[in-house]
Amino acid sequence: MIERSYDVVIVGSGAGGGTVAQALAPACREGLRVAVLEWGPKLREDEYTGREAEMAERLYFDSGGVLTRDGTMTLAFGRAYGGSTVVYTGTSLPLPAEVLGRWGVSGLAHDDLLARSKKYMTENNVHLLEGDRINDNNRLFARACRRLGYRVEQFPINVKGCKGSGLCNLGCPNAAKQGTNRVQLPAAEASGVEVITNCKVERIGSRECVATVANPPWGEPSRSEPGEYLVRARAIVVAAGAVNSPALLLRSRLPANLPALGRYVTTHPALILVGEHDRPISNFHGHPKSYYCDHFVASGRFLLETCMYFPFTTAKNLIGFGPEHAELMSRLDRMQMILVLAIDPALPDNRVTVSPTGEPVVNYRFTDGVLDALVESQRAAARIFFAAGCRRVHAPAGLSFFIGAEDVGRLDERITREAFKLGKVSISSAHLMGGCRMGADAGTSVTDAWGQVHGFPWLFVADGSLFPACAEINPYVTIMALADRVAERVRARLPELPR
Ligand SMILES: Cc1cc2nc3c(=O)[nH]c(=O)nc-3n(C[C@H](O)[C@H](O)[C@H](O)COP(=O)(O)OP(=O)(O)OC[C@H]3O[C@@H](n4cnc5c(N)ncnc54)[C@H](O)[C@@H]3O)c2cc1C
Ligand code: SF4
Repeated sequence: MIERSYDVVIVGSGAGGGTVAQALAPACREGLRVAVLEWGPKLREDEYTGREAEMAERLYFDSGGVLTRDGTMTLAFGRAYGGSTVVYTGTSLPLPAEVLGRWGVSGLAHDDLLARSKKYMTENNVHLLEGDRINDNNRLFARACRRLGYRVEQFPINVKGCKGSGLCNLGCPNAAKQGTNRVQLPAAEASGVEVITNCKVERIGSRECVATVANPPWGEPSRSEPGEYLVRARAIVVAAGAVNSPALLLRSRLPANLPALGRYVTTHPALILVGEHDRPISNFHGHPKSYYCDHFVASGRFLLETCMYFPFTTAKNLIGFGPEHAELMSRLDRMQMILVLAIDPALPDNRVTVSPTGEPVVNYRFTDGVLDALVESQRAAARIFFAAGCRRVHAPAGLSFFIGAEDVGRLDERITREAFKLGKVSISSAHLMGGCRMGADAGTSVTDAWGQVHGFPWLFVADGSLFPACAEINPYVTIMALADRVAERVRARLPELPR
């Protein structure tokens, strides 16, 4: 086994890990040794081809199709230099004060979180997109929401030189999206942080990690030679994402009593809904996600966003097979699309466990409230499609494959809870949260409000797994703000930690 030692090791380079790496980087100039161990590859610029199957395989765990244990939901999360920020859409919202209030983490104040969020929003060039990047798919959504009296807002996006190619979720081929792969990690490396890609951390022991480096057929080779490593560190920051961080800690079998580890996972379960216009609209050109409607967050517990998915993903998300499916898919150029996200409760039995071989298993049960929200959200989306001029819509809980404009007054009868069958509808999640939740009580949380694991002064968590409950909005800005706090605490704690 090859041995290495550092002052700080960070596991994972996504929104959380990349942020911690950059925040610790200035100390590298004074001799601090920091390494990021990242399972995924760093693709070369010419490898961002925008081809759906190829990019999914290279940038996502299981090509974006990790299934929950009972097979009712697919989970999409990235495996790359930059983690899921390589494939996210870049919509950038700070956590609302009311949500933080509901989280109820003592020691975590909204003004502190907001100030840190704003720092990263500025650094990542978050702004409202110019009119020429906003396509019909987005314009029609906003106009229809306003017509119906639904509150609608433009998303701030973190891009620089966006060409409107619409390929954000396949890794931006134009280097426009400002993820940690473009901003925080290069800055960290320039100051001396070592980012070791293609390096999977197998388990964590007392102030050490066991890791394996193996290069896939794509991307730059890792800066470390392939093999097994024992990596020692004074502090370890786990930022492997909301599925892999709890799984890593669970399979590490730390000598700890952490009953909440892996529990209280929330996923913001999502459905893709489709409306068909009788003429082509611009949908694949322009930024895919420019507007959201939070009108139903308080009453219906769901959020509506614009989206435009690629042919394979879209086909997979429609209900059924056969001629109607083929007919709708042949009209991709006429499609308007909406993503609905349900706000799910944090429950102890919605949890990550590990298989006998140490692989993560996500146990997730939909509550009646979430299923009701997903059905109601389809009716709201259908109203928006018809107000936007669609001739027919496709809803997973529809009594028929197509619902025509003549049914706009009867949507409660045409879209029903009875027709919404788990396992037959394609529910997905890209907002994974919880599993190492913050809190004061070691019985119901895993870390304190600064990400330090209860009972382990050298072990920290800095990613989406820290969320004690659903963020109710797109989460990456909040993850960066929390990771910034973790880095601050690691810096303060280091002098006390043995060399
Ligand atoms: C398609 C898609 C679109 C999204 N769009 C948005 C959006 O528009 N706005 C928004 O706010 N959020 C969005 N998100 C969510 C956002 O990207 C994530 O919430 C955020 O990136 C999570 O940060 P993280 O640090 O928790 O994990 P990640 O960013 O997923 O990073 C975790 C990293 O850890 C690595 N890792 C895992 N296990 C190990 C191990 N054992 N050893 C070493 N490395 C390991 C992984 O390879 C990965 O690179 C989107 C997500 C997806 C998938
Ligand atoms: S729409 Fe903009 S940010 Fe998204 S992939 Fe295209 S150029 Fe990149």
